[in-house]
Order: sequence, then C-alpha cells, then structure tokens
Amino acid sequence: MDVALALAWLRASAGAVAAESDRLTRLDSAIGDGDHGVNMNRGFAAVVAALDATPPDAVGALFVKAGGTLISKVGGASGPLYGSALRALGKALPPGPEVELAALAGGLEAGLEAVRKLGGAEPGDKTIVDAYRPALDAFEEAVAGGADLAGAAAAAARAADEGARATTAMQARKGRASYLGERSIGHQDPGATSTALIFKALADVTA
Ligand code: ADP
Ligand code: MG
Ligand code: MG
Repeated sequence: MDVALALAWLRASAGAVAAESDRLTRLDSAIGDGDHGVNMNRGFAAVVAALDATPPDAVGALFVKAGGTLISKVGGASGPLYGSALRALGKALPPGPEVELAALAGGLEAGLEAVRKLGGAEPGDKTIVDAYRPALDAFEEAVAGGADLAGAAAAAARAADEGARATTAMQARKGRASYLGERSIGHQDPGATSTALIFKALADVTA
C-alpha cells in the first residue's frame, strides 16, 4: 500500500459513511443516541480535509494524522475508538511511502488492539470489535494463503459484513447500547456496521 492508496481508502471510507449516514444514525437511534452517522460523517470529512490540506509523504504518518483528526473532531465513543485504531495502525507501520502487505496486516492488528485497550470490548459484546476481529482474521488468512491486497481486502470486507450482521442477535455489553440490556437484542450494532463500510471501502479501492 502506498500513500495514494491509503488516501484513496480514507476518501472512499468518507464517501461510504456519508452515503450511509442516515442508516448509521437510524441504527444508533434504535439502541443508542442517534448520532453515529453524524459522528462518522463529520469525522471522516475532517480526515479528508486535513489530509488534502497537508498530505503526509509516508503511509504511517498519513494514518497517524487521520487518527488524530478523528480523535479531535468526534465527541462520541466512535471518534476516540476509530481514531486510536488509525493512529496505532500508522505507528505500527515502517516508515516510507509504501508498506508491504505483511506490515499492513500487522498494523491492522495494532489498530484492533488499540480499540480493545481503549474500550475493553471482547468479541460478542456487540461493538466495532465484532466486525473488526473477523475481518482481520479473514485478511490474515487470505494473506497466509498467498492472496494479494485486493484478495485479502475482499475477504475482510465479506467477513466484516457478516460480523456486523451477527451483532443483531447479540446483547450489548459495552457503550450506550449496554444500558438497554436485553432490549439491545434484535438491532444491528451501528459501530460494527460502520466498520464493515470501512473494510468494504478498502476492498473497493484495491479491486
Ligand atoms: P456514542 O455512543 O458516544 O454516541 P457513536 O454513536 O458514534 O458514539 O458510536 C457508537 C458505537 O461505538 C457503537 O455502536 C459501538 O459499536 C461502538 N462502541 C461503543 N463503545 C465501545 C467499546 N467500549 N468498544 C468498542 N466499540 C464501542
Ligand atoms: Mg451514538
Ligand atoms: Mg453520542
């Protein structure tokens, strides 16, 4: 992945959360406070604006800047969580304008670890983790099997979407939705849904 592709991914993510903003907000209205679409849209629009204003010349620096922007622009839980993930991804990458597939996989693992560390969610808690973990498992499995970035990203996108769908049956144990207890069951988690959009954006720009 080079700087241009990393930028294209974040731009496509911004486009996807803008296009699906109403859906994300509707999902968050059912089990949260109805701002997930607005939060994601505002955050990723700010990321694109910040990167366009001063484009970093290294992939790692680009993700660090994107993460810092999300953290500073989004007040909800999702800003610090996605922001920390992107920052950890960027920090884990070797310096330079291009990174190898194995390094990217390691960076994505560091991103998930940051989400787990900040939010304390385990798989099954009906959060971002429930799309991110299976997506990353699929990504790593594809890489181990010899896939290129496009193949690994496609596998990750499918797994993230399945993971997000599977949150419908879960009871939330983290975040606002956990206040609802059993009443959180029967609704797809907004954050897992936005995670699936972000992995789909990666698949789209690498296809
Ligand atoms: P807020 O809940 O502060 O309004 P958002 O609506 O933007 O923030 O984001 C809600 C999403 O954040 C949830 O759907 C869930 O996926 C995710 N989330 C909340 N708490 C956690 C956590 N502790 N770990 C991982 N993801 C979380
Ligand atoms: Mg919310
Ligand atoms: Mg909120």
